[in-house]
Amino acid sequence: MGVLDRAKRASGLSSPETLPYMCLKCETQFDVQYHACPVCGTYDIRRSKWVTE
Ligand SMILES: [Zn+2]
Repeated sequence: MGVLDRAKRASGLSSPETLPYMCLKCETQFDVQYHACPVCGTYDIRRSKWVTE
């Protein structure tokens, strides 16, 4: 999933599926802000706009 998202950004496509929060470690996106990533367990959850702009 993370690799696919990275590829989509690299290709310049603006995905309509972009969610407001994203894990900085595994790049899983969420529509709610988790305290910790449910996928990889890191606490590095950020708003997507902070890391994509
Ligand atoms: Zn994660």
